[in-house]
Amino acid sequence: MESEIEEYTVQIRRYIHARPELSFKEEKTSEFIVNELKKMGLAPVRIAGTGVYADIKGDGKGKTVAVRADIDALPVQEVNDKEYKSINDGIMHACGHDAHTAMVLGLAKKLTSEKTKFTGTIRVFFQPAEENPPGGAIKMIEDGLLNNVDYVIGQHVDSRLPSGYVGYRSGAVSANSDTFYIKIKGKGGHGSMPERGIDAIYVASQFVVMLQSVVSRILSQTSASAITVGTFNGGYRHNVLADKVDLSGTVRTVSQDDRDKAKESIEHIMNGLKAAYGIDFEYVYEYGYPVMVNDPYVTSILKEEAENLIGKDRVVEVNQALGGEDFGYYLQQRKGTFYRLGISNKEKGITAPNHSPEFDIDETSLETGVNLLAKLALRLTQS
Ligand code: MN
Repeated sequence: MESEIEEYTVQIRRYIHARPELSFKEEKTSEFIVNELKKMGLAPVRIAGTGVYADIKGDGKGKTVAVRADIDALPVQEVNDKEYKSINDGIMHACGHDAHTAMVLGLAKKLTSEKTKFTGTIRVFFQPAEENPPGGAIKMIEDGLLNNVDYVIGQHVDSRLPSGYVGYRSGAVSANSDTFYIKIKGKGGHGSMPERGIDAIYVASQFVVMLQSVVSRILSQTSASAITVGTFNGGYRHNVLADKVDLSGTVRTVSQDDRDKAKESIEHIMNGLKAAYGIDFEYVYEYGYPVMVNDPYVTSILKEEAENLIGKDRVVEVNQALGGEDFGYYLQQRKGTFYRLGISNKEKGITAPNHSPEFDIDETSLETGVNLLAKLALRLTQS
């Protein structure tokens, strides 16, 4: 039989899934969360616009553990035809933040309704805008979320892991995720007389090729990095020399040293191209989400608790990936861990990757998520 908490969590997930809202615009979602927390007898506090947190107090003698959910959805048109499909056109919970929110509400429900005796304080929190840098985490921290907090934990649903599995990793698990913008200014002219202009498309092409040498010849070969040009725009017609090209791209690094080197090297390449071809350029480098670094001690406790809950063979060490997550900001300030919760199920046809218009989760994973959050958080209050 389904437990009360499982039933509650599934129902909440479906309600939120059907009513997705974009980053920083999660007004109704936020209001819904506040009401749910009030029904549990808690005193929710609104911060960072649509952010919410609430404290669940045990005997007050132990540590305070903050447990995170993100609440925003993506500009994706859902193609699933489930009873709980999105009713908001062009917006979808395609990254599972509906499940994150439901599980943290499920945790709050569990801790308030079971009259579980525990030591310390659990601070459940719901942050806006994980999907849209600069993201909601910075604002949550600025508004005092981490005051009196000892540890911070979070989980993310992951379609690469089957439902009932958990993925953990100590140390760096994501990447510094930065963005660059470059405007290359050449000089227009006739395509038959390139010597009389400065061909911005030719120079921009050189740049794209040379950029890969930053990864292979300048950044550390023992820590991961990736640089990708994502947009390349310029030109008018087959026989017109392009006078300008706009480029943008992403830089993923793990160390601050590589991050600084990448930023600098891009400028060096552009200065070299300027000297060689006489172009002018504008260069903007924006720092994005920092790498998430999981604390070894907290991660070892996660592993232990997960193994106790679901069995050793279902708790797997995952590889580091070069994705971005603004949970990295919390981990710069407090010890904690961010882990992966499996949600795929081949037999049920649930296999679509996160961010896909077909994304869905095996809802039986929700109970695992709630129970693991509870075990980990309560254990940390005593540490
Ligand atoms: Mn996400």
